[in-house]
Amino acid sequence: MSATAVFFDIGGVLLDGEHAMPGAVESLQRLRGAGVPYLLLTNTTRRSHAELLQTLQRAGMPVSPEQLLTPAQLARAQLMAQRACPLLLIHPGLQADFDDLPQPDANRAIDNVVIGDAADAFTYAHLNTAFRALMAGADLLSLSDSRYFRQAGALYLDAGPYVRLLEEAAGVKAVSLGKPSPLFYQRALDRLGLPAAGITMIGDDVVGDIQGACSIGLAGILVQTGKFRPQDSAALPAGATLATDVAEAVDSLLATRTPNGAHP
Ligand SMILES: [Mg+2]
Repeated sequence: MSATAVFFDIGGVLLDGEHAMPGAVESLQRLRGAGVPYLLLTNTTRRSHAELLQTLQRAGMPVSPEQLLTPAQLARAQLMAQRACPLLLIHPGLQADFDDLPQPDANRAIDNVVIGDAADAFTYAHLNTAFRALMAGADLLSLSDSRYFRQAGALYLDAGPYVRLLEEAAGVKAVSLGKPSPLFYQRALDRLGLPAAGITMIGDDVVGDIQGACSIGLAGILVQTGKFRPQDSAALPAGATLATDVAEAVDSLLATRTPNGAHP
């Protein structure tokens, strides 16, 4: 296997919370050294783009702002283009990504409910305000359909179950901007100006990362770290493989590219 470019998930693949996963920094360094472009695509919606970039860089990852794609960027661009007034059901840490958008008030109807992993902000009061806006005709824009994630050995609810809750209550269907949405992957392809064929996505979520990427023609490598569970391998689509961790995944991509190459 070789790759013209590589897409990475972040949580459970490159980072565990604030810390680099074993082999993650070296894997990115090796790709950079080999001249293989890479992007980081995350469904993490608890931190702004700037804060997440800082975390990655503090952990030693060679990543520039242009190499980090978040669903909030996609949502913000869409809301700006529509001059929309959104109700944000998001984590306080993500607020900075939406700071320059109009805020709802008595004179301005809510056009969109934007939902991410709001964590403790998923209170009855906030969910009910969002529910009422949807019943009044607002569109539901979801930043992540992920059901859960794993961090520091524990599982955490993600945004997906709350998206389902609002869909069920208001009888609406969310437009999803995070993985596995083809919109998100297409945006990543546009950024590199490359076709899907020849690009590999490396992730720990068999649905969001691997099925999502393969559905639009990328190859996929599911790593057995982060949220991976052995039963996930049964859901691997054609064109996808398993690797122990990110280092082994990148190793397999570089092995055929540089058969006599400089493995560390
Ligand atoms: Mg992940």
